[in-house]
This record gives sequence, C-alpha cells and structure tokens, in this order.
Amino acid sequence: MLVTLKQILKKANTENYAVGAFNINNMEICQAIMNAAVSQKAPVILQTSQGAIEYAGYDYLKALAHTAAKQKVPVVLHLDHGRDMEIVKKCIKAGWTGIMYDGSHLPFDENVANTAKVVKMAHAKGISVEGEIGTIGGAEETVISREIIYTNPDVAEEFVKKTKVDTLAIAIGTSHGAYKFSGNARLDLHLLKIIKQRLNMPLVLHGASGVPAWLVTQAVRYGAQLGKPEGVPDDQIVNAVKYGINKVNTDTDIRLAFDAAVRKFIAEKPEDFDPRHILQPARELIQQVVEHRMRLFGSSGKA
Ligand SMILES: [Zn+2]
Repeated sequence: MLVTLKQILKKANTENYAVGAFNINNMEICQAIMNAAVSQKAPVILQTSQGAIEYAGYDYLKALAHTAAKQKVPVVLHLDHGRDMEIVKKCIKAGWTGIMYDGSHLPFDENVANTAKVVKMAHAKGISVEGEIGTIGGAEETVISREIIYTNPDVAEEFVKKTKVDTLAIAIGTSHGAYKFSGNARLDLHLLKIIKQRLNMPLVLHGASGVPAWLVTQAVRYGAQLGKPEGVPDDQIVNAVKYGINKVNTDTDIRLAFDAAVRKFIAEKPEDFDPRHILQPARELIQQVVEHRMRLFGSSGKA
C-alpha cells in the first residue's frame, strides 16, 4: 500500500529500525526491490532522483511505484535530492508521497527559506518532506560535493524548528558513490547520538552503500573497471541504525549488482541477445542485495 514518508518513518523511529530507500530507474530494478520487500515482509521506500525522472519520465516512474504499491507491504514513492523547485512541485502534484528538498549547497538562510516553502506545499497535500543539513560528500548524478561538512547539532536543531521538516538527512562521514573512503574513514556515531538526542526525530543516512567485495569481484572479472571502490561496512550500518538512523539510502549497490549480472550473462552467453534473458539475472542479483540490506536495517518482518 502507498503510504507517506512520515508514516513509514514514525514506526521505524519508535521501534528502532531503518527503512531501506532504494533508487529506481526502470521496471526490473523496481521489481527486484519489491520482490525483496515482499519476501522480507519489509516496508520500503522507492526513490527517484531528478536524473531518474529525466531518464524515465514522471508517468512511467509513478506507474511503476503505484503498481508496486499493490503489494501488501508499505511503499513510499520519494523524490531523492530534489533541488529544482519545478521538479519538486511536479512530484507533489503527480502523486509522490515523500519529497526530499536538498538545499545543503545553499547558505543556511536560503536552505531554510526554500525548505520551509516545500514543507508548506507538501504538507498541504499530506506529503512529507526530508531536508538536509551539513554536506554529504561524493557525487550523486548532478549533486557533486567533494568535501564532507559534518552536521552541526545546533544548526540542525534550528533548521528543523524553522522548516518543520518530517525527517532530516545528516552528514556523519558518508559519501555518495562507490569511493567513500580513502584510508580508514569511519562514521561519527558519537555525533549521531548527540543529534538524535537533541532532535528526537527520524534521521536519514545517505551515501550508505556497502559496496560488497564479492560484487565488485564479479563485475571486475567480467570486464568492469572500478579502481578501488569502498563502501560502509555492514557493522557500521548496524550501529548507525542502533543510534537513531531510520532511513538508509542505497543506490550504488544496486548499480553494481546490475552491472555485475549483465556483464556475466553477456560474457557467458554471447549468442543470446534476448533482453529478458540478459536482464533477468540482474533482477535476481539486485533482489539478493536488497534482501541483505533489509535484514541489516532491521526492517525485515516490519511490514
Ligand atoms: Zn543522497
């Protein structure tokens, strides 16, 4: 069933687990995530970046998510990193049930003003809003910032008070993409604890893919050139959830699984050019990866 971001995260906050937010770009990825959600009996957030909307279009993405929502698990259709007001407005109108407005690149006052405006528009339609304060590192499509600016708890408190966002993305050391750490970077769980205590609301972790070594190995074995990717180790995700993260974003792991499976099939069956045969293993591998993430977040069995 289609629910709002606020509804799905309220329960997660009360019961101390996190809901997986997975990026969808096409039917197979959406199906893989939903197969995982149904098999794990887990609530799920299907999120679309501005890039995904450009690629697939509002109508196709909405149709996919609304079809997915016929399953018996709670589903949110969420805009990921909305920066363009026109896109935000269109999603609110078109049937998205969660909106992230990302004004983290703007001066504080401007971020507050824009986010508050989005909250007003969205809340009028019963839609929930995620804001961002601090800067998550790395590159996510058009959103690029190399430097991580850790979230300041005082600033976060003021931001929430002034904007009335339903949930907040915080920067505690993660980055977008497949190259999160050079060396021994770790999540600042102490900072997370302080922010959670101060805000007492659902919190969001971006840039949280695990980049599993076995997946990288498979992709590289069949020709991918990935350099030295590094993700957030599973035990740190578990701790982040324990200390108050209620929504964990995952995109890179899905991309890696898609890439690894397609490369393997094409390498092993060069004579087979049926798109269904090529994409089926990708759908299965993504499901496996998403199921693992759901168990890690503690959301299995929570639907
Ligand atoms: Zn993000």
